[in-house]
Amino acid sequence: MGDKKADRVEKVFEELKGKGLISEKRHLKKKNIRNFRARFILNRIYYDPVFTSLDEKSIRFILLHEEGHLRLKQKKRPSKTDEYEADFWAAEQMIIFYGDREPHKTLEMALEKADGMRKKRKSRIWKRKADSHPSTEERRNYVKRRLEKSEVRTWNIS
Ligand SMILES: [Zn+2]
Repeated sequence: MGDKKADRVEKVFEELKGKGLISEKRHLKKKNIRNFRARFILNRIYYDPVFTSLDEKSIRFILLHEEGHLRLKQKKRPSKTDEYEADFWAAEQMIIFYGDREPHKTLEMALEKADGMRKKRKSRIWKRKADSHPSTEERRNYVKRRLEKSEVRTWNIS
């Protein structure tokens, strides 16, 4: 194990499964899609190999976002609302299980880093695919505003 080249996405995926934050049913698959993506029917989460060098905290948030799509039973192509809901689900898990006090900043960091890595890869397919995700700023602000008015008092958990 020690001499295997570390794939951080696999490592974080197993960590999240161990905590019950990602369902035992899920499978992780590499695919050249320049993104992360969840497929409900197949119980799969896809990721582009370019992201194996992302930092663990960013991977954690993004994998939780994908799991959020699956937990919230968003079976069709996600709408903007679905994206916000998946972000908020991920943010709640970051607060409760990792003591993250500013998950909106974690989201922003993760998306900016992922964008930087994505740009290193050239793909025509990417340009043709419609992306339902709102902008990083919109996503960050949605999570921040919703947490500010949230009834859930999880902020004191260390
Ligand atoms: Zn999404």
